[in-house]
Amino acid sequence: MGEKLIEVKNLKKYFSSGIFRKSYVKAVDGVSFEIRKGETFALVGESGCGKSTVGRCTLRLVEPTSGEVYFKGIDILGLNRELRDLRRKMQIIFQDADGSLNPRMRILELLVEPLRVHGLLNGRGMAEALRLLELVNLTPDLLGRYPHELSGGQRQRVGIARAITLNPEFIVADEPAASLDLSVQAQMLDLMKRLQGEFGMGYLFISHNVNIVRLMAERIAVMYLGKFVEVGDTRKIFNGAAHPYTQALLSAVPTTDPSARQNRIVLEGEIPSPINPPSGCRFHPRCPEAKAVCSEVEPALQDTGSGHLVACHFAS
Ligand code: SF4
Repeated sequence: MGEKLIEVKNLKKYFSSGIFRKSYVKAVDGVSFEIRKGETFALVGESGCGKSTVGRCTLRLVEPTSGEVYFKGIDILGLNRELRDLRRKMQIIFQDADGSLNPRMRILELLVEPLRVHGLLNGRGMAEALRLLELVNLTPDLLGRYPHELSGGQRQRVGIARAITLNPEFIVADEPAASLDLSVQAQMLDLMKRLQGEFGMGYLFISHNVNIVRLMAERIAVMYLGKFVEVGDTRKIFNGAAHPYTQALLSAVPTTDPSARQNRIVLEGEIPSPINPPSGCRFHPRCPEAKAVCSEVEPALQDTGSGHLVACHFAS
Protein backbone atom coordinates (compact mmCIF):
# COMPACT_ATOMS: atom_id res chain seq x y z
CA MET A 1 0.00 0.00 0.00
CA GLY A 2 1.22 3.51 -0.85
CA GLU A 3 2.10 6.28 1.57
CA LYS A 4 -0.85 7.96 3.31
CA LEU A 5 -1.51 11.27 1.51
CA ILE A 6 -4.79 12.50 2.95
CA GLU A 7 -6.43 11.83 6.27
CA VAL A 8 -9.80 13.40 7.09
CA LYS A 9 -11.35 12.95 10.53
CA ASN A 10 -14.92 13.73 11.53
CA LEU A 11 -15.24 16.56 8.98
CA LYS A 12 -18.31 18.78 9.32
CA LYS A 13 -19.49 21.72 7.28
CA TYR A 14 -22.63 23.56 8.34
CA PHE A 15 -23.75 26.57 6.29
CA SER A 16 -25.88 29.10 8.13
CA SER A 17 -29.23 29.86 6.55
CA GLY A 18 -32.40 31.72 7.43
CA ILE A 19 -32.77 35.45 7.96
CA PHE A 20 -35.15 35.71 10.94
CA ARG A 21 -34.43 32.38 12.58
CA LYS A 22 -30.90 31.02 12.48
CA SER A 23 -30.71 27.53 11.06
CA TYR A 24 -27.94 25.43 9.55
CA VAL A 25 -27.64 23.38 6.39
CA LYS A 26 -25.68 20.33 7.52
CA ALA A 27 -23.97 19.79 4.16
CA VAL A 28 -21.32 17.48 5.62
CA ASP A 29 -21.94 15.92 8.99
CA GLY A 30 -18.98 13.95 10.31
CA VAL A 31 -17.12 12.05 7.59
CA SER A 32 -13.72 10.38 7.90
CA PHE A 33 -11.49 8.79 5.25
CA GLU A 34 -7.93 8.27 4.04
CA ILE A 35 -6.38 8.37 0.58
CA ARG A 36 -3.02 6.83 -0.28
CA LYS A 37 -0.48 7.72 -2.96
CA GLY A 38 -1.61 6.45 -6.36
CA GLU A 39 -5.08 5.56 -5.05
CA THR A 40 -8.47 6.77 -6.28
CA PHE A 41 -11.08 7.10 -3.57
CA ALA A 42 -14.53 8.08 -4.88
CA LEU A 43 -17.52 9.79 -3.32
CA VAL A 44 -20.81 8.83 -4.91
CA GLY A 45 -24.38 9.84 -4.18
CA GLU A 46 -27.27 11.91 -5.46
CA SER A 47 -26.87 15.58 -6.20
CA GLY A 48 -26.86 17.70 -3.02
CA CYS A 49 -25.60 14.94 -0.69
CA GLY A 50 -22.46 16.90 0.23
CA LYS A 51 -19.84 15.27 -2.03
CA SER A 52 -18.47 18.50 -3.51
CA THR A 53 -18.38 20.20 -0.11
CA VAL A 54 -16.22 17.34 1.21
CA GLY A 55 -13.82 17.90 -1.72
CA ARG A 56 -13.61 21.63 -1.18
CA CYS A 57 -13.18 21.32 2.59
CA THR A 58 -10.39 18.77 2.06
CA LEU A 59 -8.51 21.37 0.02
CA ARG A 60 -9.64 24.11 2.40
CA LEU A 61 -11.23 26.01 -0.47
CA VAL A 62 -14.19 26.03 1.90
CA GLU A 63 -13.46 26.36 5.62
CA PRO A 64 -14.82 23.35 7.53
CA THR A 65 -16.97 23.91 10.61
CA SER A 66 -14.99 21.28 12.50
CA GLY A 67 -12.88 18.19 12.03
CA GLU A 68 -9.30 17.48 11.02
CA VAL A 69 -7.62 17.33 7.59
CA TYR A 70 -4.02 16.15 7.15
CA PHE A 71 -1.87 16.14 4.02
CA LYS A 72 1.10 13.78 4.55
CA GLY A 73 0.68 14.30 8.29
CA ILE A 74 0.53 18.12 8.06
CA ASP A 75 -2.55 19.60 9.74
CA ILE A 76 -3.79 21.83 6.92
CA LEU A 77 -6.52 23.45 9.00
CA GLY A 78 -3.81 24.79 11.30
CA LEU A 79 -1.84 26.46 8.49
CA ASN A 80 -1.92 30.15 7.61
CA ARG A 81 0.63 31.54 5.14
CA GLU A 82 2.16 28.09 4.63
CA LEU A 83 -1.10 26.90 3.08
CA ARG A 84 -0.27 28.77 -0.13
CA ASP A 85 2.88 26.68 -0.68
CA LEU A 86 1.05 23.48 0.16
CA ARG A 87 -1.61 24.25 -2.43
CA ARG A 88 0.94 23.41 -5.13
CA LYS A 89 0.68 19.82 -3.98
CA MET A 90 -3.14 19.76 -3.82
CA GLN A 91 -5.19 20.69 -6.85
CA ILE A 92 -8.74 20.48 -8.17
CA ILE A 93 -10.31 19.62 -11.52
CA PHE A 94 -13.73 21.26 -11.83
CA GLN A 95 -16.77 19.87 -13.59
CA ASP A 96 -17.30 23.07 -15.50
CA ALA A 97 -14.10 23.86 -17.39
CA ASP A 98 -15.91 26.86 -18.93
CA GLY A 99 -16.42 28.45 -15.55
CA SER A 100 -12.90 27.75 -14.28
CA LEU A 101 -11.01 29.13 -17.32
CA ASN A 102 -10.72 32.90 -17.62
CA PRO A 103 -12.36 33.65 -21.02
CA ARG A 104 -10.04 36.62 -21.60
CA MET A 105 -6.85 34.56 -21.33
CA ARG A 106 -5.32 32.56 -24.18
CA ILE A 107 -4.50 28.90 -23.62
CA LEU A 108 -0.76 29.66 -23.24
CA GLU A 109 -1.46 32.15 -20.44
CA LEU A 110 -3.90 29.77 -18.78
CA LEU A 111 -1.39 26.93 -18.76
CA VAL A 112 1.46 28.96 -17.29
CA GLU A 113 -0.69 30.94 -14.84
CA PRO A 114 -0.19 28.50 -11.91
CA LEU A 115 3.61 28.76 -12.38
CA ARG A 116 3.40 32.55 -12.52
CA VAL A 117 1.23 32.77 -9.40
CA HIS A 118 3.74 30.67 -7.46
CA GLY A 119 6.78 32.56 -8.85
CA LEU A 120 8.08 29.50 -10.71
CA LEU A 121 7.95 30.73 -14.29
CA ASN A 122 11.69 31.49 -14.70
CA GLY A 123 11.41 32.00 -18.45
CA ARG A 124 10.26 28.44 -19.09
CA GLY A 125 6.62 29.24 -19.83
CA MET A 126 6.55 28.11 -23.47
CA ALA A 127 8.47 24.88 -22.78
CA GLU A 128 6.14 24.06 -19.89
CA ALA A 129 3.02 24.84 -21.91
CA LEU A 130 4.19 22.53 -24.72
CA ARG A 131 5.01 19.77 -22.23
CA LEU A 132 1.56 20.07 -20.64
CA LEU A 133 -0.23 20.06 -23.99
CA GLU A 134 1.56 16.88 -24.95
CA LEU A 135 0.65 15.24 -21.62
CA VAL A 136 -3.05 15.90 -22.18
CA ASN A 137 -2.98 15.08 -25.92
CA LEU A 138 -3.57 18.59 -27.25
CA THR A 139 -1.72 20.19 -30.15
CA PRO A 140 0.49 23.33 -29.92
CA ASP A 141 -1.69 25.26 -32.38
CA LEU A 142 -4.21 25.76 -29.53
CA LEU A 143 -1.82 27.93 -27.51
CA GLY A 144 -2.94 31.18 -29.14
CA ARG A 145 -6.66 30.48 -28.84
CA TYR A 146 -9.23 31.51 -26.25
CA PRO A 147 -11.26 28.93 -24.28
CA HIS A 148 -14.45 29.60 -26.29
CA GLU A 149 -12.59 28.58 -29.46
CA LEU A 150 -12.04 25.05 -28.08
CA SER A 151 -14.46 22.12 -27.83
CA GLY A 152 -15.80 21.07 -24.41
CA GLY A 153 -13.41 18.10 -24.33
CA GLN A 154 -10.41 20.29 -25.23
CA ARG A 155 -11.34 22.81 -22.52
CA GLN A 156 -11.56 20.02 -19.94
CA ARG A 157 -8.09 18.81 -21.03
CA VAL A 158 -6.79 22.34 -20.47
CA GLY A 159 -8.39 22.20 -16.99
CA ILE A 160 -6.57 18.93 -16.29
CA ALA A 161 -3.29 20.35 -17.64
CA ARG A 162 -3.62 23.34 -15.27
CA ALA A 163 -4.26 20.99 -12.37
CA ILE A 164 -1.01 19.07 -13.03
CA THR A 165 1.16 22.10 -13.88
CA LEU A 166 2.68 22.24 -10.41
CA ASN A 167 3.25 18.47 -10.10
CA PRO A 168 0.61 17.91 -7.42
CA GLU A 169 0.48 14.78 -5.28
CA PHE A 170 -3.25 14.98 -4.63
CA ILE A 171 -6.13 16.02 -6.89
CA VAL A 172 -9.83 16.47 -6.16
CA ALA A 173 -11.71 15.68 -9.37
CA ASP A 174 -15.23 17.06 -8.98
CA GLU A 175 -17.48 15.44 -11.61
CA PRO A 176 -14.67 15.93 -14.16
CA ALA A 177 -16.53 14.29 -17.04
CA ALA A 178 -20.14 15.10 -16.21
CA SER A 179 -20.54 17.91 -18.73
CA LEU A 180 -19.07 15.94 -21.65
CA ASP A 181 -20.51 13.62 -24.31
CA LEU A 182 -20.19 9.91 -23.56
CA SER A 183 -17.35 9.28 -26.05
CA VAL A 184 -15.37 12.27 -24.77
CA GLN A 185 -16.04 11.21 -21.16
CA ALA A 186 -14.27 7.89 -21.75
CA GLN A 187 -11.22 9.65 -23.23
CA MET A 188 -11.08 12.03 -20.27
CA LEU A 189 -11.20 9.23 -17.71
CA ASP A 190 -8.50 7.31 -19.63
CA LEU A 191 -6.36 10.43 -19.57
CA MET A 192 -6.79 10.82 -15.81
CA LYS A 193 -5.87 7.16 -15.27
CA ARG A 194 -2.79 7.47 -17.49
CA LEU A 195 -1.58 10.61 -15.68
CA GLN A 196 -2.10 8.90 -12.34
CA GLY A 197 -0.05 5.91 -13.57
CA GLU A 198 2.70 8.26 -14.73
CA PHE A 199 2.88 10.59 -11.71
CA GLY A 200 1.36 8.53 -8.87
CA MET A 201 -1.14 11.15 -7.66
CA GLY A 202 -3.92 10.29 -5.24
CA TYR A 203 -7.41 11.24 -6.45
CA LEU A 204 -10.54 12.13 -4.53
CA PHE A 205 -12.99 11.42 -7.34
CA ILE A 206 -16.49 12.88 -6.99
CA SER A 207 -19.34 11.63 -9.16
CA HIS A 208 -23.06 10.88 -9.14
CA ASN A 209 -22.44 8.27 -11.85
CA VAL A 210 -21.88 4.83 -10.32
CA ASN A 211 -20.63 3.37 -13.62
CA ILE A 212 -17.84 5.93 -13.80
CA VAL A 213 -16.95 5.42 -10.16
CA ARG A 214 -16.74 1.67 -10.75
CA LEU A 215 -14.20 2.23 -13.54
CA MET A 216 -12.11 4.81 -11.72
CA ALA A 217 -11.90 4.01 -8.01
CA GLU A 218 -10.31 1.32 -5.88
CA ARG A 219 -12.46 2.35 -2.90
CA ILE A 220 -15.71 4.25 -2.66
CA ALA A 221 -17.84 6.02 -0.07
CA VAL A 222 -21.58 6.28 -0.69
CA MET A 223 -22.98 9.54 0.72
CA TYR A 224 -26.51 10.36 1.79
CA LEU A 225 -27.53 13.67 3.36
CA GLY A 226 -24.03 14.65 4.47
CA LYS A 227 -22.97 11.28 5.86
CA PHE A 228 -21.19 8.17 4.62
CA VAL A 229 -23.58 5.21 4.62
CA GLU A 230 -21.24 2.63 3.07
CA VAL A 231 -17.47 2.64 2.51
CA GLY A 232 -15.22 -0.03 1.10
CA ASP A 233 -13.52 -1.78 -1.76
CA THR A 234 -15.29 -0.86 -5.03
CA ARG A 235 -15.46 -4.43 -6.32
CA LYS A 236 -16.88 -5.75 -3.05
CA ILE A 237 -19.57 -3.08 -2.88
CA PHE A 238 -20.60 -3.61 -6.51
CA ASN A 239 -20.73 -7.36 -5.93
CA GLY A 240 -22.71 -7.12 -2.70
CA ALA A 241 -23.83 -3.72 -1.45
CA ALA A 242 -24.96 -3.97 2.17
CA HIS A 243 -26.76 -0.65 2.68
CA PRO A 244 -30.30 -0.30 1.26
CA TYR A 245 -29.43 3.11 -0.22
CA THR A 246 -26.39 1.71 -2.05
CA GLN A 247 -28.49 -1.21 -3.26
CA ALA A 248 -31.03 1.24 -4.70
CA LEU A 249 -28.33 3.38 -6.35
CA LEU A 250 -26.71 0.35 -7.98
CA SER A 251 -30.04 -1.12 -9.07
CA ALA A 252 -30.79 2.08 -10.99
CA VAL A 253 -27.77 1.67 -13.29
CA PRO A 254 -29.03 1.26 -16.88
CA THR A 255 -28.53 -2.31 -18.10
CA THR A 256 -29.43 -4.50 -21.07
CA ASP A 257 -30.11 -7.45 -18.72
CA PRO A 258 -33.95 -7.76 -18.40
CA SER A 259 -33.74 -9.65 -15.04
CA ALA A 260 -31.64 -6.85 -13.56
CA ARG A 261 -34.25 -4.34 -14.75
CA GLN A 262 -36.96 -6.26 -12.89
CA ASN A 263 -34.91 -6.02 -9.68
CA ARG A 264 -34.69 -2.25 -9.80
CA ILE A 265 -35.37 -0.62 -6.41
CA VAL A 266 -37.34 2.60 -6.86
CA LEU A 267 -36.94 4.97 -3.92
CA GLU A 268 -40.08 6.86 -2.95
CA GLY A 269 -40.00 10.54 -2.05
CA GLU A 270 -37.46 13.31 -2.27
CA ILE A 271 -34.18 13.64 -0.40
CA PRO A 272 -35.12 15.36 2.91
CA SER A 273 -33.78 18.81 3.72
CA PRO A 274 -30.27 18.90 5.25
CA ILE A 275 -31.52 21.80 7.43
CA ASN A 276 -33.68 19.46 9.43
CA PRO A 277 -32.58 15.90 8.63
CA PRO A 278 -34.80 12.99 9.75
CA SER A 279 -34.25 11.58 13.23
CA GLY A 280 -32.52 8.24 13.68
CA CYS A 281 -31.31 6.89 10.35
CA ARG A 282 -31.49 9.78 7.85
CA PHE A 283 -32.53 7.35 5.14
CA HIS A 284 -35.50 5.88 7.06
CA PRO A 285 -38.33 7.88 5.34
CA ARG A 286 -37.28 6.39 1.97
CA CYS A 287 -35.85 3.06 3.06
CA PRO A 288 -37.76 -0.03 1.86
CA GLU A 289 -36.28 -2.01 4.80
CA ALA A 290 -37.02 0.49 7.59
CA LYS A 291 -38.25 -0.78 10.98
CA ALA A 292 -39.48 1.16 14.03
CA VAL A 293 -36.00 1.50 15.55
CA CYS A 294 -34.71 3.24 12.40
CA SER A 295 -36.57 6.48 13.10
CA GLU A 296 -35.28 6.60 16.68
CA VAL A 297 -31.69 5.41 16.74
CA GLU A 298 -29.00 6.58 14.36
CA PRO A 299 -26.93 3.64 13.07
CA ALA A 300 -23.15 3.98 13.44
CA LEU A 301 -20.84 3.36 10.49
CA GLN A 302 -19.48 -0.04 11.50
CA ASP A 303 -16.91 -2.41 10.03
CA THR A 304 -18.66 -5.54 8.78
CA GLY A 305 -15.30 -7.09 7.88
CA SER A 306 -12.11 -6.21 5.93
CA GLY A 307 -12.74 -2.48 6.07
CA HIS A 308 -16.26 -2.66 4.61
CA LEU A 309 -18.14 -0.05 6.64
CA VAL A 310 -21.93 0.15 6.71
CA ALA A 311 -24.34 2.44 8.61
CA CYS A 312 -27.45 0.30 8.96
CA HIS A 313 -28.95 -1.49 11.99
CA PHE A 314 -29.57 -4.59 9.91
CA ALA A 315 -26.38 -4.90 7.86
CA SER A 316 -24.47 -8.13 8.35
FE1 SF4 B 1 -32.95 1.34 6.31
FE2 SF4 B 1 -33.11 1.15 8.95
FE3 SF4 B 1 -30.90 0.39 7.72
FE4 SF4 B 1 -31.54 2.97 7.84
S1 SF4 B 1 -31.03 1.63 9.55
S2 SF4 B 1 -30.81 1.90 6.07
S3 SF4 B 1 -33.75 2.86 7.68
S4 SF4 B 1 -32.91 -0.54 7.52
